[in-house]
Order: sequence, then structure tokens, then C-alpha cells
Amino acid sequence: MAHKEVWLSILDRLKPTIQKAHFLTWFQNTTIMEIKDGKMIVGLPSAFAHNWITEKYNLKIVQAAMEIDSTITEVVYEIHGSLNFKDNPASGAIDIKALFKDDEKVVRKVRNMDEVEVTRASSGMVVNSQMLNHRYSLNNFVIGKDNRLPHAASLAVANMPGGIYNPLYIYGSTGLGKTHLLQAIGNEALRNFPDKVVKYVTAEKFVTEVVEAIGKRYMQKFKDQYRKVDVFLVDDIQFFARKDSSQQEFFHTFDALYNGNKQIVITSDRPPSELDGLDDRLKSRFGMGMVVELLMPDFETRLAILHQKCREAQMIIDPEVLYFIANNVTDSVRALDGVLRQVTAEAQLTDRVPTLRTAAEIIKRMNKAHKIIGFDIEEKKANACAKTAEDVLKIVAEYYKVGVDELTGGDRHTEVIVPRQICMYLIKNELGDSYQKIGTAFGGKNHTTVLHACNKIGEKLKNNLRLVRDVNSIKREMGL
Ligand code: ADP
Ligand code: MG
Repeated sequence: MAHKEVWLSILDRLKPTIQKAHFLTWFQNTTIMEIKDGKMIVGLPSAFAHNWITEKYNLKIVQAAMEIDSTITEVVYEIHGSLNFKDNPASGAIDIKALFKDDEKVVRKVRNMDEVEVTRASSGMVVNSQMLNHRYSLNNFVIGKDNRLPHAASLAVANMPGGIYNPLYIYGSTGLGKTHLLQAIGNEALRNFPDKVVKYVTAEKFVTEVVEAIGKRYMQKFKDQYRKVDVFLVDDIQFFARKDSSQQEFFHTFDALYNGNKQIVITSDRPPSELDGLDDRLKSRFGMGMVVELLMPDFETRLAILHQKCREAQMIIDPEVLYFIANNVTDSVRALDGVLRQVTAEAQLTDRVPTLRTAAEIIKRMNKAHKIIGFDIEEKKANACAKTAEDVLKIVAEYYKVGVDELTGGDRHTEVIVPRQICMYLIKNELGDSYQKIGTAFGGKNHTTVLHACNKIGEKLKNNLRLVRDVNSIKREMGL
């Protein structure tokens, strides 16, 4: 082998183990000057490269060199200022960027998902790893008490694929981070084990692929391809229901990989037992490893997620606005993220900083407002410890340090008016009393006065953070 080829083979081995940016920096314009009597002399273009390479990568280079040419027993480094592939091609210096030519990323959009397909070619062996968006990592997944376990299990799997958590089955409602975790496992596993084949597929896509493979008669190729996978990530398994031939194929793939100690991770919107239309054998296999549920994160975690998303996008948003969003968007993390995006987009468009008002308007437009303003009265009422108008009056009086008689009386001072309106609002929305009845409880007030008070608080709750905090605290006191 010519010197240059030896050097390229060595670098090819080093490549997956070194961060790309470092690799490009330190190995540019390097070469092998000579291999003689078991001694390999590596030429480096600068003292800078010399320091770094001898300190950081010497061991890797020696190991790779010995593997490629067993006669090599010693590696030494020399600095040659003339090494330059462009200005002095005769020097034999290599252009390190050329090593990445085969690794071109093929990026394609699959429906509305940002799926990225990465084809890597390393050490002469073509590996097909399908990886997802780099945006998703285990580090940027914010942990709270409701998602700690799924995160920990994902981390364990990424660090030790095919270990004890196999298969790992993650389920939860839509928009709670299942795809995020699944993709993060793929990214992390590849970082830890660059030579492993990681395959991400949605159940829907798997079905399409099976149908296509059958139609075009390349089933065997299809099977072989899937049997090579080391980490198999299947998203939204519930799409399998009643798709018989693909279910059968999935079943065989699953068994082959599982028996070969390959890692399988599955996500779904429901637990295995509730996967209607799925073969019972598959259901029981899903339950063999670890089954974890993702839940909607609590308020603190939601707030932390918003802060995290701002950091990622390098945006600065008034903490009060974030607090407001976290308080009001409670159905999914995706919605939380969506509202944040809208808020910032709108602010950028109008060239203004995002305010509580914009956030409130967007939440209302996206129909998320019912969470603060309207309530599921029946359900809440059953759990509440404040069950009557008197209970609410007492709690509000205590909270604002005013007397109950002041609340029910006719005092027109703001210190009393607002708490009074809050009382009416809460009695209406939480207890479901009629305007008439509330009027009577407040010293015989007209029902339109009560209606006006309720509307006023409802409006203010859309953009007055203090009021949102107060009302939420009072509701907590009420056991809601
Ligand atoms: P699912 O697949 O469960 O429907 P996704 O994984 O697509 O949900 O998550 C929706 C969005 O919410 C994504 O942008 C994801 O990054 C984000 N997300 C969900 N949970 C978290 C979390 N704990 N920390 C950070 N981002 C999260
Ligand atoms: Mg998903």
C-alpha cells in the first residue's frame, strides 16, 4: 500500500471517533512521510497540529496503524511547513474534506415530519443508519416528575442497547415527547456506537414499505435489510392495527432482532394491552421488557421547557409571559411549544417584544383558553373542598385580608371590588351557581351586576398575570 493510502485508511478509522470539527481542523494537510523498519513518520503542517495530535490522538493513530500494517511498531511525528495539498500537491498532504465526500447527507421530508436520512460510508463498509433530527437529544429533554422514568430508560437504552430494557415501550398522549425521546435515543446511540446501525421508522412507513416490497417482489431484500439493524426505533405502533401482512412481517422482524439481542424501542399512544387489532403475541412481546408512560409535565416542568426552548432559539422573552403560557397551556408540550413559537413569530413580525396580551390572544385563537377561563365544572366540583358560596367567600376573604361582610356588601373601593368580582367569578365557574343565586348571596345584587363581574374577571385573566396567579392560588386553596 502506498503511504497515502495507509494514511487514508488510518484516518478513516479515526473519523467516527473524533468530532467532525476537530477532525477537519487537526488532520488537514497531514501525511505519512515514510515507513521504514517498523517506524512510521507522520508529517504535520504546524507545531500547533503537532501539539494537539501527539497529545490527543497519538494512541488512536498507533492502534489504527498497527491494525492496518502489522509491521509498524512505532509512530513518530515531524513538522513540515511545506505540507499543503493546494499550494504544494507534490508534498503528498491530504485534503481532509475529501474524506467526507461520501457522507453527503440525504435530507428529505416525509409528509409533515422532519425526517432526516443519513447514509454513512465508513471504513469501506456501507452502513445505512436512519437518524432523525439533531434537534432532539436526551440533554434538551427537560425532566420533571412526570417524565423522569421514560427519560432514564431512554438514557439506559442509548448507553447499552440490547441490555435489560428490551424492548422499551414508551406510551402517552400526543405531543408529550415520544418522538423526541425516540429520536434522541437514536442520536445518542449513534454517538456512543458509531458503527451500530440505527433504524427509525414510523409504523405507518413500515406498513407502506412492506406493501411496496411485496408488490415489487423484493421481500427478501427488505427482510435482510431489517435484520441488520442494531437499534430499531418504531414510532406510533398503534398504526399497525389490523394491517395483517405488515403485522406479520413486523412480528418476524421483532423476533429476529430480539433474539439477536438487538435493541427495540416502541412508542404508542396507549399501553400494549389496549392495542386493538394487534396480534396477542405481539402485545405480550411488547410487555416483556420495560413499559413506561409519559405524562403531561406539571407547571414547573412546563415553565422549564419554555425556558429551554427560548435558550435553544436564543430568544429572550419576559419571564412573566412564559409563566402565563405555562399556566394556560396544559394539554400538550407540543401546544406549549406551538404557542411560544407563535408568540415570538408575531412579535418579530410586528417588531415588538412579546407581551401578555399577545400571548393571551394567541392562546385564545388556538383555543387553549378554556383551561383557565372555563372549567369542567362537574368533575372539579366533585374534588373541591370548597363546595358552597360561603366556602369561597371565606377563602377569598382570607386571601385578600378583607371581611366576608365587606365582600357581600356594597363597598366601592377597589381593594374590595376586585376580590368581590373574583368571588362571583369563582362561584359561577367552579360551583356553577346561577347569576341570580349569586346575586342573592351578595346582598341581593342584580344578576346583570354578577354577569358583568364574571365577564370582567374573565377578560382580565387573559392578560393580567397577577390576577392569574391570585386566582390560581385561591383555586388551590379551594382544592382545585
Ligand atoms: P409525541 O411524539 O409524543 O406526539 P413529540 O416528541 O413530537 O410528541 O413532542 C412534541 C414537541 O414537544 C417536540 O417539539 C418536543 O421537542 C417537545 N417536547 C416534549 N417533551 C419535552 C420535554 N420534556 N422537554 C423538551 N421538549 C419537549
Ligand atoms: Mg410522535
